[in-house]
Amino acid sequence: MANINDNYLKLRGSYLFRETAHRAAAYKDAHPGAHVISLGIGDVTRPLPEACIKAMHKAVDEMSAEETFRGYGPEQGYSFLIKAIIENNFKGLGIEEDEIFVSDGAKSDTGNIQEIFGTNNVIAITDPVYPVYLDTNVMAGRTGTCGSDGRYDGVIYLPVNADNNFVPELPEKRADIIYICCPNNPTGTTMTRPQLKKWVDYARENESIILFDAAYNAFITEEDVPHSIFEIDGAKECAIEFRSFSKTAGFTGTRCGYIVLPKTVKARAKDGSLHALNKLWNRRHTTKFNGTAYIVQRGAEAVFSDEGKRQVKETIDFYLENARIIRDGLTSIGITAYGGVNAPYIWLKTPNDMPSWDFFDKLLNEANVIGTPGAGFGPCGEGYFRLTAFGKRADTIEAVQRIKERLSI
Ligand SMILES: *Cc1c(COP(=O)(O)O)cnc(C)c1O
Repeated sequence: MANINDNYLKLRGSYLFRETAHRAAAYKDAHPGAHVISLGIGDVTRPLPEACIKAMHKAVDEMSAEETFRGYGPEQGYSFLIKAIIENNFKGLGIEEDEIFVSDGAKSDTGNIQEIFGTNNVIAITDPVYPVYLDTNVMAGRTGTCGSDGRYDGVIYLPVNADNNFVPELPEKRADIIYICCPNNPTGTTMTRPQLKKWVDYARENESIILFDAAYNAFITEEDVPHSIFEIDGAKECAIEFRSFSKTAGFTGTRCGYIVLPKTVKARAKDGSLHALNKLWNRRHTTKFNGTAYIVQRGAEAVFSDEGKRQVKETIDFYLENARIIRDGLTSIGITAYGGVNAPYIWLKTPNDMPSWDFFDKLLNEANVIGTPGAGFGPCGEGYFRLTAFGKRADTIEAVQRIKERLSI
C-alpha cells in the first residue's frame, strides 16, 4: 500500500476563519434582524485598476489572432514585465533581469521557496505570523510536532508584541532561515532601515538567509520604512524578497507576484561548497511552473503605467483612509491600536487584557462587528485583535460608530 507524507499529520487544522464564520453565523441565526458588519476581511474589495483592465482586454484580442497569439512564455516571466518591475521598484539597487522570477503570487512563492533548502535547516518565524511560512515547513519535515502551547518543536519563535514595539529581537539560538514580513500581516506594523539592518548583519554573520515578504509594500507611507530589503547594505548576499500584485493592485483573484533573488545569495551543500540560490530556484521554478498567463502579465505591466500608478494610489489611499478611521475611532475611546499607517491592518490591544476570543464575542454581541482574534495567528497574538481596512467606506464608518457608542469597556 502506498504511504503518505506523515508530516501532514502534524499540521493543525485551519481553525481560525472557520471558527469566526461559525460564531458569526450562530449570532445571525439567533438575531435575524441584526446588521452584522465584517472588519475581518483579508481580501481586497475594490475592482482592478482601469489601466489593467484595458491592457488585459488588449491582450485577449492578441490571443484571438494567429499573428499575435502566444503559447508558452518564458517560465520566469516576460521581459516586458520584468523590465517594468526593475525600472519602477528596484531602480538603482542593481537588480538584474535574471534575478526576478514572475509567478502566480506570493503565497505560492513563500510556500515553495523552502524546497531549495535542506530539511535540517532551523527556521525562525515571528509570533504572530502569516501561517504559510510555518505550515509549508511542517509539511517538508523541517519541524517536530505541535505542543499544547501551540508551538512546534524545532522552530524558533520570535515574539512580536507591544513590549518590543513589534520588532523581532535576534534569537539566542542559531536560525538558518528567517521569515520577515514587512509591512506585517497581521500586526500592520513595520521595521525601520536600522532595525532591518540588524537582521541583515545577523544573517551575514551566521550564513543565514532572510525571506522577506513585502506583499504590503504599496501601503508604506512613512519615510523610514524600507520598500525593499535590498535597500539595506549587505542584503544582496543573504536575502530573498517576495512581492505581489494582490494587495498592491487588487490581483488577489487575477494572480501575479514575483521573487527577487540576487545571484550573490548563496548557501552551502553538505560537502561545504557554496551554491547560488538563484540557480537552484531557476531550476525549481522552470521544472514545476509553466509561467503566469500572458494576459495577466500584461495587466501587471499596466500597474506601472502613469494611469495605472494613479489608479493604484487612489485605491491604496482609500484603504488607508479606512484604516485611519478605524484607528482614530479606537484611540478615541481609549483602546490602544497599532498598525494601519503603512498597512491595511489595525492590531488592537484588547481592553483589560481580555482574551482574543472573548473580545471577538463581545464585539459581535455589543457592536455587531466581526474581526479576527489575534490568538489565531500565534500564541503571542493572545490579547490582541485584528481589524482590516478592506471594507466599504460606509460600513467602516458605521462599524466604528457602533464600537464607540456601544462597546462597554
Ligand atoms: C496576501 C498575502 C500575500 C500575497 O498572496 P498572493 O498569493 O500574492 O495573493 C503574501 N504574504 C502575506 C503576508 C499576505 O498577507
